[in-house]
Amino acid sequence: MIDIKGITKSFGSLQVLKGIDLHIDKGEVVSIVGPSGAGKTTLLQIIGTLDKPDSGDIIIDGTDVRKLGAKKLSEFRNRRIGFVFQFHQLLPEFTAVENVMLPAFIAGMSKSEAKKRAMELLDFMGLSDRADHKPNELSGGEKQRVAVARALVNRPAVILADEPSGSLDSKNKDELHRLFFDLRDRTGQTFVIVTHDESLAKITDRTIEMKDGMLEMEDELSLNTSS
Ligand code: ATP
Repeated sequence: MIDIKGITKSFGSLQVLKGIDLHIDKGEVVSIVGPSGAGKTTLLQIIGTLDKPDSGDIIIDGTDVRKLGAKKLSEFRNRRIGFVFQFHQLLPEFTAVENVMLPAFIAGMSKSEAKKRAMELLDFMGLSDRADHKPNELSGGEKQRVAVARALVNRPAVILADEPSGSLDSKNKDELHRLFFDLRDRTGQTFVIVTHDESLAKITDRTIEMKDGMLEMEDELSLNTSS
């Protein structure tokens, strides 16, 4: 599903990624952990095609993303990759359902189809009664679930999450983590999650530890049988 070979990345004279090789199977839920500054977010941004490596190969869902031109790359990202960030980044002037619909719109779906799909997702997240509320009328946990729904609306093959539960209390955290596994079990989607949260890292199929721009070790907890 995700195949990365020899990825390097520098910002000026600082080499942040020093040759990363990584394979992630379809349907795996993988956590990336490690100290601040290790390069976790940079790696996630590169997997998400939001940033380019200096060298190395990235194949996602069979596509060699480094060979795509700007327009095709942006289409690929929109359809195949969903992003969830710590500070959900919902648009404040839109309601929950409108926020969820937006990426589907951008991908060319009709308004009625986008709304139908957004409502199904909000229903799955237990948020159908909050659909017409704007972000400032929602709790932190609700906002984060809306953000997850938005990441899923185009049915991406891969969901990339950067500290997704960082701003949540422990009850909302547990709910969000359960949601990731429910989704994986229902849809076979692949999750790559950067986290400092040990309780989340512990329950993922595999924990990848980064240190100083390299992968330290892979802890095969392997609930996953397809690798
Ligand atoms: P944290 O756990 O604190 O989020 P991280 O492991 O995710 O850290 P990165 O955000 O990938 O680390 O950053 C790795 C290093 O690269 C840091 O030293 C950071 O300051 C630097 N860095 C990241 N992005 C840029 C950028 N756009 N320009 C310059 N330096 C950057």
